[in-house]
Amino acid sequence: MRIGSVKEIKAQEYRVGLPPAAVREAVAHGHEVLIEAGAGIGAGFEDAEYTDAGARLVDDPAEVFAEAEMVVKVKEPQPSERAQLREGQVLFTYLHLAPDRPQTEDLIASGVTAIAYETVTDRAGGLPLLAPMSEVAGRLAPQTGAWTLQKANGGRGVLMGGVPGVRPANVVIVGGGVVGTAAARVAVGMGANVTVLDRSVPRMSYLDDIFQGRLTTQFSSAQAIDALLPTADMVIGAVLIPGAAAPKLVSRAQLGRMQPGAVLVDVAIDQGGCFETSRPTTHQDPIYEVDGIMHYCVANMPGAVPRTATQALSNATLPFVLALANKGWRQACEDDPHLLAGLNVHAGALTSYPVGRALEIDV
Ligand code: NAD
Repeated sequence: MRIGSVKEIKAQEYRVGLPPAAVREAVAHGHEVLIEAGAGIGAGFEDAEYTDAGARLVDDPAEVFAEAEMVVKVKEPQPSERAQLREGQVLFTYLHLAPDRPQTEDLIASGVTAIAYETVTDRAGGLPLLAPMSEVAGRLAPQTGAWTLQKANGGRGVLMGGVPGVRPANVVIVGGGVVGTAAARVAVGMGANVTVLDRSVPRMSYLDDIFQGRLTTQFSSAQAIDALLPTADMVIGAVLIPGAAAPKLVSRAQLGRMQPGAVLVDVAIDQGGCFETSRPTTHQDPIYEVDGIMHYCVANMPGAVPRTATQALSNATLPFVLALANKGWRQACEDDPHLLAGLNVHAGALTSYPVGRALEIDV
């Protein structure tokens, strides 16, 4: 199959759909790979690495859209890209169609076969192509939170690990899923005093097992959160209720119970945020203050580390890219119901019930 990837054109997106290592694998399976020159530069991959891996570089992204039988991207296609998609072509990328009617209508009109990363499932009921980005965002949360805690950035001036004779920072992580566990790993590693709150008892048992006493787990109730706020130096919001907006777990009034310069890192901001005072920010201007409390609410946290994020994403997408290329999309989806769960649009029709319900379009 002829596979193609282009430079992402969405603002502030530096990841790339296919890093050179993925190109090499696809070529080894007998596929031809077209890459737009400069596509990997934001993630630190030079054109020469692509040619060494066996890709054919093209200057104009239009050539990729015209020639590739499958286009592998990161972000949803932008309007100018959607205009170049066609029937018989496979698009494999993040789509997030439910809140995006213009994109959904354009993809249907194009005739393309669009498979969305975010709806591909796995045997455990998880979302394997979303998980790597949660891993990245979770590990980043204590890192950016620690930076925000520094005095010059508006924080309390508390060092995560403390020093001998001075207590470490108190870090409260609300939500112990993929993000929360990754955040706990880094916060514990930095030497902080970590408490993870969740509503799932099996999840807390798991955390208790793997961290072997190096953190505290607590059932997430309004009372538990309220009791932890006065001593917290950092609160990381990492909750998810699938298919719903994040619940608001800390109100504006509760900020008054916190220590001035304490930090809220709202990773769940892409689902509306779990603190009442959260609003989405960007990497250019990531933090702001409300009632003396610093907020970090970047909606695309993995964008801060596009090289790591590209590799993590590609590790997860590559088996599916190869299956789609080796077998063709129809056979690959027939063989793997989890990949089939990713199919959102095909040949002029919407194929996802949740998107159909959200946008009132027939499926
Ligand atoms: P997950 O499903 O793995 O984990 C969510 C956890 O929240 C679960 O363990 C669940 O039991 C728990 N939970 C639900 N309600 C709760 C409550 N009231 N109190 C405490 N815990 C509660 O999800 P995830 O992959 O860890 O993602 C977490 C959030 O991070 C999501 O909103 C996701 O969209 C977001 N996210 C944001 C970015 C970013 O760049 N900002 C990147 C990746 C993920």
